[in-house]
This record gives sequence, structure tokens and C-alpha cells, in this order.
Amino acid sequence: MAYTQMIYISRSTFAPAAATSGIEPNVAKILTKSRINNRKNGLVGVLYYGNGHFFQCIEGEESAIDKLYETLLQDERHTDLKMLSRRTINHPSFADWSMKYVSLEDEMNQLLKANGYSSFDPYQFDQAMTHKVLDLLFSSNDTIFSPKPTVIQSPGAEAVVSKAEQWLRWAQASVIISVFALGLALAAWLNTL
Ligand code: FAD
Repeated sequence: MAYTQMIYISRSTFAPAAATSGIEPNVAKILTKSRINNRKNGLVGVLYYGNGHFFQCIEGEESAIDKLYETLLQDERHTDLKMLSRRTINHPSFADWSMKYVSLEDEMNQLLKANGYSSFDPYQFDQAMTHKVLDLLFSSNDTIFSPKPTVIQSPGAEAVVSKAEQWLRWAQASVIISVFALGLALAAWLNTL
């Protein structure tokens, strides 16, 4: 099966707020929604946000990518969308991620410096630099939610889940014992006939 890979850049329109839990709140909102939607729509990808710029690589079926692109064009949280590349690929690059998010302050700054750039402005990157940024994003681990954050649980949810599991196991054991006892009773009754 063939997939479409789309890489684009854009500028955020919001004034960046202080990061909570290592991520700017507007970006966190985008990321949370993207992860839910992308999982539903069979899309995978990576998002980077730095210096008021987005850099996203997204992959999936062509129709899903087209639909997302239309949505992205309407989204007022960013502007100046510039498609860097769109191509057909044989295998998705992020099999496990509905939307990987990497915040790589140090690594990105090192890469920028090594290539003569003073800040993260992907509109200024040449092709070689774009590839280097992509390589970095592809090879980095998700830095916010790890691993595969599709279910966001409230504190204490784990305890609730494990209690529910205990009840489920108890119910399963009860059913098995009841069936076994019924079988024995039936066999005993048949013996009396
Ligand atoms: P809705 O339920 O319609 O919206 C969810 C919430 O998002 C709203 O309550 C609102 O708070 C906020 N919101 C939605 N649209 C806007 C808007 N135009 N302006 C301000 N707030 C808004 N979506 C994906 O599904 N997958 C992606 O990979 C993805 N990547 C994105 C990358 C960037 C850089 C940006 C800016 C957005 C991205 N989005 C992505 C979001 C996308 O543009 C749509 O907002 C989203 O897909 C709408 O989904 P929905 O109809 O289910 O949400």
C-alpha cells in the first residue's frame, strides 16, 4: 500500500505563553487534538515548534492527507503554510506515533549553529538543512508524552483500572467455578438416571 508524506512549515499566530510541563499551552492543545484525530484517520507524523514556527511531517492515505491539509489551511493558529515536500512512500516512518512531538532546544541549537543559522526559521533553510532537521526529528524520541499517549488518564485512574481488573478477574473465576459446579451436578444427576 502506498502512503503520502507531506512536510510543511508555518508561523504561529499566537503569542507564546509560558510552557507548562515542557510545552507551550497552545501547542499542547493542537497536539492533543491531533493525536486523537490522527489515530482515527490513520495518520502518523512528527511536529516541531520552535521560535514561533511549526515544522510538521505527516503521513497517511492520500485522501486523509488532503483532508487534513484543507483543515490546516483554515486553522487560524498558524499562517504562511509552505509545503516543503509531498511524495509517495511505501512505509510510514512513524509506525507507532499518531503525532510525535519533540522539543529539542539543545540539539536544534547545536544543529543551527553548526550550519550557520542563528535561529530556528525554516523559511530560511536550504534543502540540505531541511533534511538535517528532518533527520533529527525522525531520530529523536517523543519528549512530552511517552510512550504512545492516546489515553490521558487523570491522577488515580490507574488505581481505578487495577480495581476494575481485580473485579473482572474475580467475576471470570466465579463464572468458571459455577460452570464447573453445574457440570458436576449434571454428571451426578445423569448417574442417578
Ligand atoms: P474541533 O473539535 O473542531 O476543534 C478542537 C478545538 O481546537 C477547538 O475547541 C478549538 O479550541 C481549537 N481549534 C480548532 N480549530 C481552531 C482554529 N482554527 N483556531 C483556533 N482554535 C481552533 N489536526 C489534526 O487532526 N492532525 C494534525 O496532525 C494536526 N496538525 C496541526 C499542526 C498545526 C501546526 C496546527 C496549527 C494545527 C494542527 N491540527 C491538526 C489542527 C487542525 O488544524 C484542526 O484544528 C483540527 O484538526 C480540528 O479538529 P476537529 O474538527 O476534530 O476539532
